[in-house]
Amino acid sequence: MSTSNNQEKNLTGSCACGSCTYTSTSPATHLDYCYCIQCQRISGAPFIAWMGVPRSTLTFSGPIVHVHLSKIATRGFCEKCGAGLSLQYECYPEKTHVAAGTVVRSDFGIPEVGIHIFVKSRPAWHRIAEDGVPRYEEFDEEFEERFPEVVKELRKLAE
Ligand SMILES: [Zn+2]
Ligand SMILES: [Zn+2]
Repeated sequence: MSTSNNQEKNLTGSCACGSCTYTSTSPATHLDYCYCIQCQRISGAPFIAWMGVPRSTLTFSGPIVHVHLSKIATRGFCEKCGAGLSLQYECYPEKTHVAAGTVVRSDFGIPEVGIHIFVKSRPAWHRIAEDGVPRYEEFDEEFEERFPEVVKELRKLAE
């Protein structure tokens, strides 16, 4: 006899070529759109939609290259197709950001966008939707309060 929670719920994702995949057994906690210059340059898009996922329930497999574009965060890319999969802030060890565009399936659904960050860096040709969602020139207040040193470091990079 099987019980109703025999079937584990998952959030799964993949790079473009399928070499790198990930699975989380817990839902994403939030979804942010980041318009910072680094997110634009690595994706070729006006922003990256980042989902926060508890790191302890997230596992990656495949040839992932970890790139330190700055001292404060590590980005994970597929070695074969170049897809950007993840962003890990050193100051948020308990949480990993996963690019929402790489999600293949989520039994939990996907959170609605909660904030737009680094709006000051968005490309002039991109119009942000009038969605009523809070917009921040840089980080949101919680981040700025918790990690002032990180914010200072990022401001230097943005110059
Ligand atoms: Zn790939
Ligand atoms: Zn960004």
